[in-house]
Amino acid sequence: MAYFDNNATTKLHPHSLAAQVEAMGEDWANPSSPYRSAARVRAKLKMAREEWGEVLGLDPEFLTFTSGATEANNAILANLAKKSPPDSRILISSLEHPSISEPAYHWFPDRVDEILVDSTGLVSISSLMQFLESPCPPLLVCMMAASNESGILQPWSEAAKICSEREISFHCDATQWLGKLDPSGLRACSTFVASAHKFGGPKGVGWLAGFISQSVQLGGEQEQGKRGGTENFPAIEGMRIAWHECTRDTGSVEERSGWRDGMEGKIRDSIPEIKIIGQSVPRLWNTSLLVMPEFDNLSWVGKLDKLGHQVSTGSACSTGSIKPSPTARAHGLSPEQAKRVLRISSFLPHSQSDWEKLGDAILEAHRQLLEESKNSSVISI
Ligand code: PMP
Repeated sequence: MAYFDNNATTKLHPHSLAAQVEAMGEDWANPSSPYRSAARVRAKLKMAREEWGEVLGLDPEFLTFTSGATEANNAILANLAKKSPPDSRILISSLEHPSISEPAYHWFPDRVDEILVDSTGLVSISSLMQFLESPCPPLLVCMMAASNESGILQPWSEAAKICSEREISFHCDATQWLGKLDPSGLRACSTFVASAHKFGGPKGVGWLAGFISQSVQLGGEQEQGKRGGTENFPAIEGMRIAWHECTRDTGSVEERSGWRDGMEGKIRDSIPEIKIIGQSVPRLWNTSLLVMPEFDNLSWVGKLDKLGHQVSTGSACSTGSIKPSPTARAHGLSPEQAKRVLRISSFLPHSQSDWEKLGDAILEAHRQLLEESKNSSVISI
């Protein structure tokens, strides 16, 4: 398997696909309708909610199915803006995904502060403390669990505890955590979100966990009055089955991180100028964010694609955007360096041999790019 862009999306697990096809054929009734076929879908929906409640250690009532993490993150900020005093401030880490940072600045235009990120790539707890102890502490703190770009694991658990001691709401975007690491500690956050397509499930479905006082979306009484709109039961079922498949996996995080580290070591032996973002701090076992010393990232991506390996130029959400990504900014990458960033992200089916082959392909791509640049009159940097 040579698909190494799983932080953008994962391949649908075949069992999740089968469950969705079956649900689309059999359980297509509207779960709010008053007859037996609808009652069956309603019962299955309830079961899915209860299962997630058990997984997360939460009352199932506090689980709202959404169209994914973007909607859930937006809802947190929009709801807070509606009910908060006009001078209230919010605090987000400077690494947040646009589905947090854009609604934050939209709803609280000049009332957003950003927690600093230290030189290793970790959101700074001392910066958080400074904001919390200021005369005007925030109503809400947002911190992602794991970066979609670098895979760096953020100190969300410590931050959640600090906020809870001060009765400040803490929201965690756990989109990249679910399916890769144990989710049980997340219940310490006031609210947190996930998205099925990051762990082998379908796109367009996810959930928001935790108590929300207002509806995520107006226009219907679905989801216990918390989100209007007919529930997409087949997608919810596909997400449930994808989760089962993730939990069936018994691989070790240390071993998997070791395969990624082995690939990084191998390519750095030949190209020592490669910069590895987040190498000195805990990272998701699946992610490697590299700043290549030469050739722009689209040249690398194109070359690796031809060699049978799909990798990314950075976060898919920033592809096509001319702005440097939050991670590039936080790590102080120059605009030139930001154009040389490659993001590699595996998932559960990858083996050590897949990582080794990827390392070989990167070295071969380098050899070919060097060769081509020698033969070209255009100088590539
Ligand atoms: N947050 C993070 C950290 C993500 O990586 C993503 C997906 N790129 C999202 C939010 C948005 O998720 P969705 O595709 O479910 O809207």
